[in-house]
Amino acid sequence: MLDQAQRILKDVFGYDAFRGNQGAIIERVGSGGDALVLMPTGGGKSLCYQVPALLREGLAVVVSPLIALMDDQVATLDELGVSAVALNSTLSTDEQRDIAERIRRGEIKMLYLAPERLVQPRMLAFLQRLEIALFAIDEAHCVSQWGHDFRPEYMQLGQLAELFPNVPRIALTATADKRTREEIVQRLHLENAERFLSSFDRPNIFYRIVPKEQPRKQLLGFLAERRGDAGIVYCMSRKKVDDLAAFLTEQGFPALPYHAGLPNELRAYHQKRFLNEEGLIMVATIAFGMGIDKPNVRFVAHLDLPKSLEAYYQETGRAGRDGLPADAWMAYGLQDVIFLKQMLNNSEGDERHKRVEQHKLDAMLALCEETRCRRQALLAYFDEELPRPCGHCDNCVDGVQTWDATEPARQALSAIYRSGQRYGVGHLVDVLLGRDNDKVRGLGHQHLSVFGVGKALSEGEWRSLFRQLVARGLADVDLEGFGGLRLSDSCRPLLRGEVTLELRRDLSSKAPKPASSAASQLVRSEERETWEALRTLRRKLAEEHSVPPYVIFPDATLLEMLRSQPASLADMARISGVGARKLERYGQAFLEVLQGTVEVVRSPADLRHELVTLARAGMTPAQIARQLDCSEKNVYTLLAEAIGKQQLSLEQALDLPEDLLGEIQEAFLDGEGELPPVGDVAPLFAGRVPEQVLYCVRAALQAEFEL
Ligand code: ADP
Ligand code: ZN
Repeated sequence: MLDQAQRILKDVFGYDAFRGNQGAIIERVGSGGDALVLMPTGGGKSLCYQVPALLREGLAVVVSPLIALMDDQVATLDELGVSAVALNSTLSTDEQRDIAERIRRGEIKMLYLAPERLVQPRMLAFLQRLEIALFAIDEAHCVSQWGHDFRPEYMQLGQLAELFPNVPRIALTATADKRTREEIVQRLHLENAERFLSSFDRPNIFYRIVPKEQPRKQLLGFLAERRGDAGIVYCMSRKKVDDLAAFLTEQGFPALPYHAGLPNELRAYHQKRFLNEEGLIMVATIAFGMGIDKPNVRFVAHLDLPKSLEAYYQETGRAGRDGLPADAWMAYGLQDVIFLKQMLNNSEGDERHKRVEQHKLDAMLALCEETRCRRQALLAYFDEELPRPCGHCDNCVDGVQTWDATEPARQALSAIYRSGQRYGVGHLVDVLLGRDNDKVRGLGHQHLSVFGVGKALSEGEWRSLFRQLVARGLADVDLEGFGGLRLSDSCRPLLRGEVTLELRRDLSSKAPKPASSAASQLVRSEERETWEALRTLRRKLAEEHSVPPYVIFPDATLLEMLRSQPASLADMARISGVGARKLERYGQAFLEVLQGTVEVVRSPADLRHELVTLARAGMTPAQIARQLDCSEKNVYTLLAEAIGKQQLSLEQALDLPEDLLGEIQEAFLDGEGELPPVGDVAPLFAGRVPEQVLYCVRAALQAEFEL
């Protein structure tokens, strides 16, 4: 059977070899056994049921919780020449009836549907009359009440065991912990399932955590090496999301906001654009998460600290699903610690729950202050042992310096104590440094014995020390919410001189720049032109087929084309990701681009497409000109054209004060009938409004009134 599976892998999917446990899983399910699959994001779970579905007779039924994911999978299968459909509530009764008919005739191989739909008695009865190849239950952790993705409908999937005793079932999840695993087995009646556990390491992700100084500036520094890459930036609050998205766009990085406060349609629209367009940055709260199947997210950046390692792992895990190099970057500071500790203190819930949450936060903080390999620490938290330091995280690459902070830590704790355990870090540092300011004087703190004892360290070093004291639980944050520090019980041994304290030395941002991470450059500069040409062709095809670009070919496949330079269709067929159907459909076109016989490098149509994208993302004409490397005048001309075709609204294209816009519109509409040419109106605005702007306004009027 493995032979046959191998053939399907190559012919249909275009891949040469199974990854990790895939082969064993496919063999198990293909021969009718049940399986429980735990595999990290990007591990290749889909193939684990798609290949057995093709190996076995009958209809494969796939349960998935999100419509967007189903549509994506169906589109992908469709491109591979596999007949798949998704049944969802957006279909009309007629369409549904038609699908049922095609299923009965055996024309459909894979059926995707939501759990609540599957367990409807009519649906179950319908399926019982058919031959079923297998049931695949994706995101199986949704059955667990412990997890944060609990979906009550999943509980009812347990009845499949009884109703379809001879149909193999495969449950899949990227959630690792033991408790969830046992709950899946129990609730889905998978007692006989063979368990396949993969390593949860994501080797292609480079982890870096930096002390937060000037977060926006630090983020821009990080992004500067990643121009044109798609990524996600997580922030805590909605307001921060909105502000940051606007700021990044202004700085020439097209970005969209995403949070629960936006209207549903706008959120859906932003998500869709993130999936379909290349190089957009999504600035989001954690509301943006599940259902992000975009494989070529090149980075995930955190400007605020997640509240647990589970959350951190899941959020960073959205980077690099395609296996290509990706970055997880985070800026973290004392304020994050204070904020999360206070949230926890003020949260509802019983003491036991709070203790669990506190424990989770402590583990997150420990990762931030970790002095050894970050990946080893992260995996250890999930009970997985990585035998050696990974060599692919900031600590491994840059090295970490530690220093004996015993004495300064005692001074710091003493400053907290002597000033009455109520002041924040700013004031405490002033006291230690002996700064004779109004607040110090007003409180009489210049008379404290600790006043001025800390001049050996800089302000930054003191702040770093206080942050680490709080992170390690040696000092506590007050409950009232003013950020004052108190001593905690665990600091006593240190105060009594019974233990010493070794702390991390923060890399100052003024220090020489640390080695840049691996992901920053997927393609070398001399390859860029061909790379862009390949991407342009892909985008064109994606638009023609109404699918996201990665459904045509993933980045890894394009990259392999770029590197191996296939000279014939036969060469092309050997590239990973080029199956029979795609070879037939697209092989020739990509070959021609590679051979340079066609010029797809930024055809006028592409330039227009990109321009519309950037304008919609909120860029000004000047920024667009810079981004597209063409003249501002040219940009205005194209903007006017796009406005005329109603691809853009005037507001999207230009940022004009309302009264000025009104004045210009009136000038155009002054006469009867036809709109006057720009030349007639221009003298009225000479010196005030560039002529190009007038062209845009005129185009908008023309479109509006179809003049
Ligand atoms: P998951 O659902 O586990 O996050 P996917 O099934 O979406 O992962 O697979 C992630 C990516 O890896 C996809 O682009 C998929 O086509 C690719 N992939 C999966 N298995 C293989 C394989 N054996 N060889 C090459 N690429 C693979
Ligand atoms: Zn490491």
